[in-house]
Amino acid sequence: MSERKTIVAVFDTKPYDREFLSLAVGADQFHWKFLEFRLTDETAVAAHGADVACVFVNDVADLNALECLASSGVRHLALRCAGFNNVDLAAARKLGITVTRVPSYSPHAVAEHTVALLLSLNRKIHRAYSRVRELNFSLGGLVGFDLFGKTAGIVGTGKTGRLVAEILRGFKMRVLAADISPDHAWATANGIEYVDLETLDRESDIISLHAPLTQETNYLVNRHTLALMKRGVIIVNVSRGRLIHTAALIEALKNGHVGGVALDVYEEEEGVFFEDLSGEVLQDDELARLLTFPNVLITAHQAFLTREALEEIARVTTENIQLLSAGLPPLEGTSF
Ligand code: NAD
Repeated sequence: MSERKTIVAVFDTKPYDREFLSLAVGADQFHWKFLEFRLTDETAVAAHGADVACVFVNDVADLNALECLASSGVRHLALRCAGFNNVDLAAARKLGITVTRVPSYSPHAVAEHTVALLLSLNRKIHRAYSRVRELNFSLGGLVGFDLFGKTAGIVGTGKTGRLVAEILRGFKMRVLAADISPDHAWATANGIEYVDLETLDRESDIISLHAPLTQETNYLVNRHTLALMKRGVIIVNVSRGRLIHTAALIEALKNGHVGGVALDVYEEEEGVFFEDLSGEVLQDDELARLLTFPNVLITAHQAFLTREALEEIARVTTENIQLLSAGLPPLEGTSF
């Protein structure tokens, strides 16, 4: 008699999730139930009969959803991401659901996307691309500046921030950094200078945010700190939307104090980013306003989206499902 396969209900499945999860080593040992909608207290019932619920950043694993999952038989909540602010960990513990995550997939993916955004914004590639496709070969309004010799400020020198700092050193930029836990040996070895946040704000031509969202970093870029920054500063945020006070940023863009902004995250991105809303009326007026500026470039939380990162997410997720199904502990550092 064949053994029953572990059933995995995958919420918020995108085509790339299906592809990479299905290809992971050991994936054929499970029965995958790919669901295109997000996990909420109303949709949790779709996991009925599953052993594992697999979720991403915009799924909501609150008390009600978790209770429904638990009564459907789910014993493992496998996050395909690092962040877990969308999960009620205490409720999961009480209900006997083990929660695992993928703490790091590819800092290179995130760092390289940061630099891609910076170069595109500064050299107006987004505008040139549309223009040339319309057979408009004029260059008016496409003037950028050399990165060489300019000053970059990196806020947060963890896995992604330090990679961005090292890449920008390759352009022969002066690189300043601010972090609550500075790594002076790394900075000295790479010709990078730690300064306080105010000095970084005052002296940088480009500011790139790589700190997590915490009480201290919430609205790190606000009316006051924007006023400290150089006129014409370029701000890049691939970290978390709420590091920037959007209304203050719009004001600084309107009056020309900020020279350009590249965002891969936005404070109200939930329910918007990752979705195709091209046939709908956009309800978020601040996002709509941001999209009207020629010097704002937005991608929808795609900095992580490389083959390598997706392979790593699928590998860790699949290995943890295998381990927990066999009654073994999950991979080190992936559970709570
Ligand atoms: P990390 O934990 O390796 O590094 C974060 C760094 O920020 C640490 O060095 C920490 O000391 C520093 N920090 C914390 N509080 C600070 C403060 N108040 N001021 C200055 N520095 C502070 O994280 P990481 O892997 O480099 O990721 C950074 C951020 O990027 C995370 O918040 C993560 O959510 C986000 N991220 C985005 C994507 C994406 O696709 N856009 C993908 C992965 C991660």
